[in-house]
Amino acid sequence: MRPRIEKLRERLAHFQLDALLITSLTNIRYLFGFTGSNAIALSTSDQAFFVTDRRYIQQAQSQVRTAEILIGLQDLFAELKKANVLRAGLRLGFEAMHLTAKNYFHLQKTFAGVKLIASERIVERLASVKESEEMASIKKAAEICRDVYPEILALIKPGISELEISAEISYRTRRRGSERDPFEPIVASGWRSALPHGVSSNKIVEESDLVILDFGAVVNGYAADFTRTVVIGEPSNKQKEVAAAVEEALHISAAAAKPGMIGKNLDAVARDFLKQRGYADCFQHSLGHGLGLDVHGLPRIGELSDDPLEVGNVLALEPGVYLPKLGGVRIEDDFVLTETGLENLSPFPRELARVG
Ligand code: ZN
Ligand code: ZN
Repeated sequence: MRPRIEKLRERLAHFQLDALLITSLTNIRYLFGFTGSNAIALSTSDQAFFVTDRRYIQQAQSQVRTAEILIGLQDLFAELKKANVLRAGLRLGFEAMHLTAKNYFHLQKTFAGVKLIASERIVERLASVKESEEMASIKKAAEICRDVYPEILALIKPGISELEISAEISYRTRRRGSERDPFEPIVASGWRSALPHGVSSNKIVEESDLVILDFGAVVNGYAADFTRTVVIGEPSNKQKEVAAAVEEALHISAAAAKPGMIGKNLDAVARDFLKQRGYADCFQHSLGHGLGLDVHGLPRIGELSDDPLEVGNVLALEPGVYLPKLGGVRIEDDFVLTETGLENLSPFPRELARVG
C-alpha cells in the first residue's frame, strides 16, 4: 500500500502546486494520523512538515510518522516559516474550505511573495478511495447501527419524546463500541418527520406518527450513517405507499451505481423514480454522500455533483419523501463501491417497522 503522502504529491504535481498547506484537522488526521485539535501541515514535492503546539508534543511524537514535527508556541505559521522551504515565487495551495479569512491574511503576511492558490478537495478526493483497514472500521460502525436498531424499536412508544429516543441511541451505540456520535441522532416524529433536515425536539411521539431515525456510529474515527422510518401502530395506506416508494428508490439507485458514474446521474435515478410516483417536489436533499473520517465526504451524490464514483468509495444513499403535515419517510444505507457495483456494508430490514 502506497503511503498517503506519496499519493498527495502526485496530486500536487497534477495541479501544478509546489506545496500544499493543510489546515483541515480531518485531512491532517488522514495524512499523518494526528488526532489532536490544533495543527497545520505542509507537503512539498519531497518534504512534509507537521506543526502543532506544546500541548501535543508527546501525542505528535507517537502519532505522526511521515512528516518532520515542529512545535510552535502560539503562531504555527511562524514556526513553519523557520523550516525555510517556502520561497518567494512558489505556488502554495491552501485549503479554501478550511482556512479562515484571518489565517489567510496571516499566511499572506508570513510568506510574502509566495503565490497563494485556492485549492479544494485535494486530500478529500484521495481519502474518498478507502484502504481495506478503513473499510473494516466503517463496516464495524455500520454493524453497531444494525445491532442497536432493534433495541431502539423496542423502546419507541406513544408518550416518549424525540430527545429521549435520541439520547438512547447515543447511549446504546456508545455501549456497543462507538467512540462518539458522528452527528446528533435525528429523531423526527409526526408532522416533524416532514422536515427534511429536522433535529430531535421535545415533541412527544403519538399514535400513528411516522418517526424518522437518522443515526450513526464511529469506529477508529470512521463514521457509519443510517436512517430508518417507523410508524406508531397501524400505518395508513398513504404512509405505506410513501414508504414503499422510498424503499424502491433506494433499491434501484443502489443497483444503478457503477464505477465512473457521475454523482448527479446517480442522484437522478432516485429523483426521476420518485417524480414518476408523484413525489416531484417532495425530495429536497441530495441522494447521498461519501463516508469516512468525515460523515459527509466525497463523492457527493446530488443534483449538482460532478464527482465521479470510484472503486473503493464508501457511500451513504438516503432517498426521502416529505409531505407537509402528513410526515416523511427516509431510508439510508451504507455501501462500498466495487468493480461490479455497490455492496451493502451492513444489511438490515428497511421496511416501515410498526412499533408501539
Ligand atoms: Zn444519516
Ligand atoms: Zn447521510
